[in-house]
Amino acid sequence: MEFSRRIAALKPSPTVALNNKAKEIAAQGKKVYNFAVGEPDFSTPESICNVAIESLKKGRTKYSASGGSPALRQAVVDKLKRDNQLSYEPNEIVMGIGAKELLFHAMLALLNEGDEVLVPAPYWVSYTAQVEAAGATPVIIPMPENHEDARLSPSMIEPYVTERTKAIVITSPNNPAGYVLSKAELSELAAYFKDKPWWVISDEIYEYMSFDEPHYSLLQLEPALRDRFILINGLSKGFAMTGWRVGFLAAPMPLVKLVKTLQTQSSTCLPPFVEDAAVFALNSGPGMMQEKMAVLKSRRSLATSLLDEIPGVDYRPPKGAFYIFVDIRAALEAAGWPALDSMRFGETLLNDYQVAMVPGEAFGAPGFLRLSYATSDADLKEGIARLKEALAAIKN
Ligand code: PMP
Ligand code: GLU
Repeated sequence: MEFSRRIAALKPSPTVALNNKAKEIAAQGKKVYNFAVGEPDFSTPESICNVAIESLKKGRTKYSASGGSPALRQAVVDKLKRDNQLSYEPNEIVMGIGAKELLFHAMLALLNEGDEVLVPAPYWVSYTAQVEAAGATPVIIPMPENHEDARLSPSMIEPYVTERTKAIVITSPNNPAGYVLSKAELSELAAYFKDKPWWVISDEIYEYMSFDEPHYSLLQLEPALRDRFILINGLSKGFAMTGWRVGFLAAPMPLVKLVKTLQTQSSTCLPPFVEDAAVFALNSGPGMMQEKMAVLKSRRSLATSLLDEIPGVDYRPPKGAFYIFVDIRAALEAAGWPALDSMRFGETLLNDYQVAMVPGEAFGAPGFLRLSYATSDADLKEGIARLKEALAAIKN
């Protein structure tokens, strides 16, 4: 029997797969130092949970409006105005079951066979898979050899542009590298995109985790992009609500209409009690999470200072999200391993040292390991000590 060629060619999400594997090992009663997860380790604020509980008690358990309740879309409009100085109408907003679903639906709505989507590496695992599932081709813009120099600039993008280019994906703060594009870098990119016919898909899900400088949306810096701009964001990271599955998309009406239609034919709507809690969270804003963000910042310092003690290990100073993209190429080479085989080393690290980190191969950048520091100080200390031990052991 032949299944769908497009779907049969899809690989499972490596971040989700590794997290599942780490959880499986933990379920066998073994301690795992899980630096693979892409989620904050703290709980959703109680005040947000209480809104959902009250809503459930009030019987808000039926279908809601496809695309998001009017109150929720208005809360997104207000958030975009307050945090990003962007003006949208409620009918230019669509809610989804996580930002992931919206990205997927946006790709399906935008792309035809033969279209190309520019994806700068290192990139989040699902973009390329989603582009392929939509029948189009991801064109990866490789990460520069020296990751210290890795700045996304028009000159890095231009060689990959063809007449089939339909869109580019920009992720700042970045998963997996933790970099944040500065206002100057974003302005330069925005000016370049303005003269191009293609779309900009701006994934801003780590917006509230820009630790050293304010977050800017590309659109703020170049309003002329509006007709070809898809803003993706959600509550998963900023409000520690990964399991609630709330994402939002802001874009011109014709695109929003298609994404909404897709939702009417797939997930239908968000659960209404989740929507009520999301309205409360969005209206509360980033202030609600400030203390947690300070905790993440201090863990970033701890993790980087521990990594600094490991020979052959390097990283570009992480400025946002909660990831460090650890360059282990020199350490692997010194041990006589192929410098780019982070996949094999990642397996050794998990199987023999119970430390889960996502190998760079998943993000289009072999020779690296992604470390999520959204975990306890104690785990960071022990897990990074084990990483050091593992790198020393393969040398012998
Ligand atoms: N974009 C990026 C860059 C991410 O890291 C994630 C995390 N899974 C998502 C989108 C999707 O987030 P969610 O579906 O939980 O809203
Ligand atoms: N975004 C997170 C990660 O990169 C969650 C898992 C996923 O959806 O990929 O690990």
